[in-house]
Amino acid sequence: AFDVLVVGGGPAGAAAAIYAARKGIRTGVAAERFGGQVLDTMAIENFISVEYTEGPKLAAALEQHVRNYDVDIMNLQTAQKLVPASDATGGLVEVQLANGATLRSRTVVLSTGARWRQVNVPGEDKYRNRGVAYCPHCDGPLYKGKRVAVIGGGNSGVEAAIDLAGIVEHVTLVEFDSKLRADEVLQRKLRSLPNATVVVSAQTTEILGDGQRVNGLVYKDRNSGDSHTVELEGVFVQIGLLPNTEWLKGTIELSDRGEIVIDDRGQTSLPGVFAAGDATTVPYKQIVVAMGAGSTAALSAFDHLIRSSAP
Ligand code: FAD
Repeated sequence: AFDVLVVGGGPAGAAAAIYAARKGIRTGVAAERFGGQVLDTMAIENFISVEYTEGPKLAAALEQHVRNYDVDIMNLQTAQKLVPASDATGGLVEVQLANGATLRSRTVVLSTGARWRQVNVPGEDKYRNRGVAYCPHCDGPLYKGKRVAVIGGGNSGVEAAIDLAGIVEHVTLVEFDSKLRADEVLQRKLRSLPNATVVVSAQTTEILGDGQRVNGLVYKDRNSGDSHTVELEGVFVQIGLLPNTEWLKGTIELSDRGEIVIDDRGQTSLPGVFAAGDATTVPYKQIVVAMGAGSTAALSAFDHLIRSSAP
């Protein structure tokens, strides 16, 4: 059995594995895809102390750093079920994998991350990272002085539009519904900005480009049925971040958005089970935030181990 079993191999999981392994305890990482969302990222300019890097390069460095330690890396493994520690499990937490194997550990760190909900229109996949973006904190500065749209009128969409309006030349917020769902105070703030336009009852139907980069967005006015084209250089999709926690439903406390509920120490609702990163209720979803949270969760797992007797 492991002392610390990390489920998920993104920035949070890699940090948790390194912090655990440095305590000289039996550490394992099971990950569907080691590297996580970082693998899908191009330019990274906010990984503090590294002015510029690229996703695949950072993902390789994460893996190399973990491999410097005695960590059992189980890549391409999907966790399907978590079984809390009980007398029946010999006091160990169990993680069942899709390949049929069961891993046992005294503590578990859940760091399965999240994925952005996509609009699923032509052009979105083709121009991802070439004008189609999902993270205003990450990619906002790349659009300085340019025109962008934000798709989605919930809190995250309206926050993104307000944020971007301070950087870009003009931002158009496109919402499918007849009204925005964001908090009133955010909506007021957005409508007060001179370089922001809000379009409601608008169904995005296509993201246009010149073959290299995005140059427009087409939406259908759901009242009149007419199509309109907005000329722009960037589209930020803000219609939801989905935590990869479907497999935990019913076993552990999740928020109404499906995020694993944790406290300041990364403790979940189950003894011996900790969590970190985008899969949790942590307020901001960023690489440095996930790494900090992964370290916290691993240190909390270690603290749990030294306070409990080995089963
Ligand atoms: P993830 O990176 O999502 O990793 C989750 C891990 O869990 C993966 O290994 C995954 O395969 C695994 N997993 C999932 N489900 C299971 C399962 N059931 N069983 C086993 N393993 C599982 N942040 C920045 O700070 N700067 C940026 O510039 C930046 N740009 C971004 C650009 C894009 C296109 C995207 C998508 C995100 C960007 N982010 C950026 C956000 C950043 O990537 C995330 O905040 C960060 O990766 C979260 O780390 P994590 O470890 O919590 O989760």
